[in-house]
Amino acid sequence: MSNRESAGIGMTSERTRGRMVDRLRSEGIVDEAVLAIMESIPRHLFVDEALSTRAYEDSPLPIGFGQTISSPYIVARMTELIHAPARIGKVLEIGTGSGYHTAVLARLWREVYTVERIAQLIAKARGNFRRLRLRNIRLTHGDGARGLPEAAPFDAILVTAAVPRVPPELLQQLASGGRMVLPLGGADQRLYLIENTPGGTVETGLEAVKFVPLRANLE
Ligand code: SAH
Repeated sequence: MSNRESAGIGMTSERTRGRMVDRLRSEGIVDEAVLAIMESIPRHLFVDEALSTRAYEDSPLPIGFGQTISSPYIVARMTELIHAPARIGKVLEIGTGSGYHTAVLARLWREVYTVERIAQLIAKARGNFRRLRLRNIRLTHGDGARGLPEAAPFDAILVTAAVPRVPPELLQQLASGGRMVLPLGGADQRLYLIENTPGGTVETGLEAVKFVPLRANLE
């Protein structure tokens, strides 16, 4: 990309982010704290430079290694489902990718833990966090289906790759009163909210979604 083009993105990205947030509101996102944070984070840093101009479109985009960055709507939706003003605690994200969703979480939660199976994506995400001076994120290269027992329990868990059923290890690492949001299914997937209540686990099925599958082998 030429300097002129990248300068153009710098100048217009703020306005483009404003439009992205207006669109998210019209699509039903109501948590203003989440919207304000998404308005402030330069999403184009998290996609390949050749795709920078498309970073604010409401679609997933490739980030290399056969993976994608989640669409702005999905990031907003999953984040508002676990966000409550009183929640100042610990959140675990499974599937870091290039780190956009992690960065949004880092501005809302005190401590953010994130697990990714592809080492090169961990390196990419780490560079993005450094650039944005985000210091409350712990990255782990590993299989997220096993969670992160050494840092449990978590007030919230987000799984950003599809699983056929709720991984039992993750359920065990959810604090009492905690919330987990994850895509369940294979070819057909649905977003689920799992609440760990005193009376037991409550599962709520939400909208249809499309995520890359969770895979166990590390790269
Ligand atoms: N949260 C990211 C989503 C990236 S896509 C965003 O904001 O864009 C999902 C990611 O999950 C991919 O990077 C993929 O490599 C990762 N993933 C898949 N299986 C995994 C596993 N078992 N453990 C950890 N990460 C996994």
